[in-house]
Amino acid sequence: MSISTPTHAPSAADSSHSFAGLPEGSAERFQNFVRNPGRLLIDGEWVDAVSGKTFETFNPATEESLGSVAHGAAEDIELAVAAARRCFDDEHSDWRRMTPSERGKLIYRIGDLIEQHADELALLETLDNGKPLTIAKVADVALSADLFHYMSGWATKIEGGTIPISAITAPGSEFLAYTRKEPVGVVGQIIPWNFPLLMAAWKLGPALAAGVTVVLKPAEQTPLSALRLGELMLEAGLPAGVVNIVTGFGDAGAAIAAHDGVDKVAFTGSTEVGRLIVHAAAGNLKKVSLELGGKSPQVLYKDADMDVAIPGAANGIFFNQGQCCNAGSRLYIERDVYDEVVEGVANEAKKITIGPGINADTQMGPLISQEQHEKVLGYLSSGLGAGAHAPTGGGRAGVHGYFVEPTVLTDTTPDMKVVREEIFGPVVCAIPFDSGDDDVIRSGNDTNYGLASGIWTRDINKAHRTAHRLRAGTVWINCYSVFDAAMPFGGYKESGWGREMGHNALENYLETKSVVAQLA
Ligand code: NAP
Ligand code: MG
Repeated sequence: MSISTPTHAPSAADSSHSFAGLPEGSAERFQNFVRNPGRLLIDGEWVDAVSGKTFETFNPATEESLGSVAHGAAEDIELAVAAARRCFDDEHSDWRRMTPSERGKLIYRIGDLIEQHADELALLETLDNGKPLTIAKVADVALSADLFHYMSGWATKIEGGTIPISAITAPGSEFLAYTRKEPVGVVGQIIPWNFPLLMAAWKLGPALAAGVTVVLKPAEQTPLSALRLGELMLEAGLPAGVVNIVTGFGDAGAAIAAHDGVDKVAFTGSTEVGRLIVHAAAGNLKKVSLELGGKSPQVLYKDADMDVAIPGAANGIFFNQGQCCNAGSRLYIERDVYDEVVEGVANEAKKITIGPGINADTQMGPLISQEQHEKVLGYLSSGLGAGAHAPTGGGRAGVHGYFVEPTVLTDTTPDMKVVREEIFGPVVCAIPFDSGDDDVIRSGNDTNYGLASGIWTRDINKAHRTAHRLRAGTVWINCYSVFDAAMPFGGYKESGWGREMGHNALENYLETKSVVAQLA
C-alpha cells in the first residue's frame, strides 16, 4: 500500500470538521487522507493524472472544499485499461493464477478491512456526500462489508454443468459435453454519488469473485471513499492491475464506455447516461449492465397497519434525502384512508431533524450538490405551479448547504413532471386510488421505469396478488428499502439491464463456454 504525496496545496480548513468518534490515533491520518487522498490507482501504483490536473470535492453541508483529487481523463483511462488488460491477458499473472479459494479469502479480507475502518469510512462518506453519519455507518459501510463477505463465498462456487446432449454424428457416437463459466475480461465500472462506497462494493465484490479485472470510475462529487477502498484492497493483498481507479468526470466514463479494450461496462446512474453508454458500447459490442433510475410506486391499502405503514412509507421516500434509485416517490393511497395517511406522512416529514450529517441528531442531510439542489427545487416549483399542493415542505431548508424540506405533494395529475420524472430528492406525490386492485395496478405501472415498489396491507392474498402484477424488479411488502447482499436487485423497463447482488450478480462478469468432446 502507498499513500499519495500532495499533488496540490491543501484547500479546506479541515480543522473545522469534527473527527469525534474515530478510533484513537487515527484522526491525524484521516485528516491527511482527506487533504491528500490517493491519486489515480493504476497498475498498483498511485499516480497523478497525465495532465497533472486535480479537482476539488466539496462538503455539501457547508459548501466548503474538502480537498482535491486527480482529474483523470481519456489518457488516464487508456493507461488504466492497458493495466487491466495486461493483468487479465497474462495467464501467468498473480491474479489469473490465484485459486478460487485464495480469491475468496482475499475478498473476505477486504470485507474485514472495511469493518475495521468503519468509523473512518463512514466519516468520509458523510463529509463527501452529506448523509447522516449514523446512516453511513449502519447502512453504507456495514452493507459494503457484508457484500464483500457474501461475494467471497461465490469465488469457489462458480460452476458450469454437464449436459446430456442428443447429437448423433455416427452410429453409437458418445459425447462428454459441459459448460465452463469464465471471467468476461476487462470490466469498466461507472458509479454514482448517492451511496459511493456501497455502489463500489456492489460492483467490485462480484467482479472479483468472477476473476475479471476492473477500471472503476467513481462519481466526481464523491471520490474519497473509493480511493480509501483502493488502499484497503491493496492492503488486503490485491495484486497490481486487478482494480484500477480513475477519478474524474463524465468524459472519463465515456472513454471507458467507448474503449475497445473493455469487454464489459457495468453502470449505475441516470437513465439518460445509461442510454449514452449503450450507444458508446456499440463499437466493440461490449457487454453492458445498467442499474438506472426509478419512479417507484408504494401502494397503501386501507387495511394496512397504519402504525407501521405510515412511518414506513415516509422512510421509503425520505431515506438518504430521497436520493435513492429505488425511492418510493409515488405513494398510492386507498381513497378511504387518504386524508389520514397524508396527514400521517406529513407529520413524519415534520419530525425529521435536518442538518449536517456530522451532527449526532441529524436524520436528513443536504442533497449532494448545488446542481441537484436546483434540480429538486425546480421540480417543486414545477409541481406547485401546475396546481399541486404541499401540506408540508415545498422548498429549501436553511440558508447554507443544499438542504431541502421533506415534502408531500397532493392534488397532482398523472401527466405532471413531478409524477412522471425521477426527482431524486425528498419529495413524494400522494395519490388516491379507488378500492380494488385494478385502478392502482394501472396507475402504479403507468411509468417508463420499473425498479422497485412497495405494498402496505394486512391481507396476505392481496399483498401477493399485487406483488405479482407490479412490473418492477423488487417488491417490498410491509417494509421498504430492505437490501441484502443475497437478494438480486435491478430494473424492469427503462430502469436497467441485469441484476446486482445475489448470485445473479456474477452473471454480469461471466461468459459461458460450451465444450463438446466426442469420445472414441
Ligand atoms: P449520472 O450523470 O448518470 O452519473 C453517474 C456516473 O456516470 C458518474 O460517475 C458520472 O460521472 C458518469 N457519467 C456521466 N456522463 C457519462 C457519460 N457520457 N458516459 C459515461 N459515464 C458518464 O448521474 P448524475 O448526473 O450524477 O445525476 C443525475 C440524475 O441521475 C439524478 O438526478 C438522478 O435522477 C439520477 N441518478 C440515479 C442514480 C441511481 O442509482 N439510479 C444515481 C445517481 C443519480 P460524473 O458524475 O463524475 O461526471
Ligand atoms: Mg463531495
